[in-house]
Amino acid sequence: MYRHLDNLELPIDLPVGKVVCVGRNYLDHIKEMNAQVSEQALLFMKPVTALTHMYNPVKIPANKGECHNEIEIAVLIKDRLCNADEDAAEAAIWGVGLGLDLTLRDVQKTLKEQGQPWERAKAFDASCPVSGFVPASQITDFQDIRFSLQVNNDVRQQGHSKDMMRRICALLAEISEAFTLECGDIVLTGTPRGVAALAHGDSIEAALDGHFSIQTNVVTV
Ligand code: ZN
Repeated sequence: MYRHLDNLELPIDLPVGKVVCVGRNYLDHIKEMNAQVSEQALLFMKPVTALTHMYNPVKIPANKGECHNEIEIAVLIKDRLCNADEDAAEAAIWGVGLGLDLTLRDVQKTLKEQGQPWERAKAFDASCPVSGFVPASQITDFQDIRFSLQVNNDVRQQGHSKDMMRRICALLAEISEAFTLECGDIVLTGTPRGVAALAHGDSIEAALDGHFSIQTNVVTV
């Protein structure tokens, strides 16, 4: 069973809830997808069964087409947020880590063409490996967080939270107008450019600069 861990891999005493994700929060990724800038945040969710630890091998489904990496800053929520302002949102952050928003890109393309929701492409079991979370007190500036994903020792994605179209606290506030964020929920804040297919046997290194680097590998299931 998944439990939230801190960056020392010690358990955090918070319940496990939903994962709320935002699409199209970095302009360079919107361009690589030939997508449009969203007027309001493009939101979707992953259920608790999607959560797993990045310290374990990353499991990708076999025979469902390409499964893409999307490395993202993950925010762990410690207080309920409902129609919150940005100050309340900031005060409700337990900490920050990394999440992989694994995406079945071929499945998603078909769903988009058919005007159907994305869950089959985004919310499958173990589709959300997350790191441990660095306590907010150790983060100097939420908009100055750098992170990266290497695949087989090549840098595939590099992000900096200053490049977000919606900054972290503004994003949490906007989400809380659509639905309540609860203690133990996780928010994934969007991916920068560099999404591509993962393959069985790939080695992965996910790094939150100045805090941690996690190495794992990819297996098909
Ligand atoms: Zn994503």
